[in-house]
Amino acid sequence: MRVFRVITHILIILLLTVTTQVGGLAYILYLWLKRRIPTLGWKRKLLNFGLFICLYSILSFVIVPVVASKFYHRKALPITHEALQPLRMYTYVMNRHYVDEDLYEVLLNSAEKLQNEFPETTMYYLDACFPLGAKFPLLPHWSHNDGQKVDLAFYYVDPITKKDKNGSPSWLGYGVCESPKIGEKHMPDYCEKKGCFQYSLLEKLVPQYKKDDYEFDATRTKRLIQLLTAATKIKKIFIEPHLKKRMNLTNSKIRFHGCHAVRHDDHIHVQL
Ligand SMILES: [Zn+2]
Repeated sequence: MRVFRVITHILIILLLTVTTQVGGLAYILYLWLKRRIPTLGWKRKLLNFGLFICLYSILSFVIVPVVASKFYHRKALPITHEALQPLRMYTYVMNRHYVDEDLYEVLLNSAEKLQNEFPETTMYYLDACFPLGAKFPLLPHWSHNDGQKVDLAFYYVDPITKKDKNGSPSWLGYGVCESPKIGEKHMPDYCEKKGCFQYSLLEKLVPQYKKDDYEFDATRTKRLIQLLTAATKIKKIFIEPHLKKRMNLTNSKIRFHGCHAVRHDDHIHVQL
């Protein structure tokens, strides 16, 4: 029984570390502290849960931002800024919103410029990087390991009124794709034929029921990419070739990421 309990604790620590980076440490502190708290009958479970949340919050929102800035030149992306926000709450709750301070500046500047041109347009970020570690990958994005990468959401319009529409058809932020139309270059097909089964995997896993409520907004998405390519510090942007062509984008910073990655017609990958 004791062995089973130890294995469970180790698995929880690993899972929390892989998904949130500092959650495993918060859990270790919690295990150490909870033995020192007097038993309060049925309230014990509630108290334990509260204790873990407190430790995780102190680490995530008080200690880690200071350490990330001092040792890794990284900053948490804004959470409530009008021009730049996370698309989904899990991104910042799980510490997946840290970027190099240079990338932070480029994103905020571009988001503000975009909002000047298109009022009420917010730049929505998805997974960026973890706060700590020179090569700590933010899974499943192996390359998001150094604070220099971030994923951004596309823009959409209402398919009936054609008015700008905030949000995303995907609850995850990923996996609802703006697929190639007839006659467009079809890298998802090409990569799947090459045996890269992971390329379109997410599209098969993420529910697609909201897809028809959102129409891809080529105008604002193109302008967002143009603003980012114009920033000298940005070196690479990944989107699917058919979207690059459809939006008539020609900047050489916009590249194809290769079949070993996943498809990029559901988000934009940006890196320094
Ligand atoms: Zn990415």
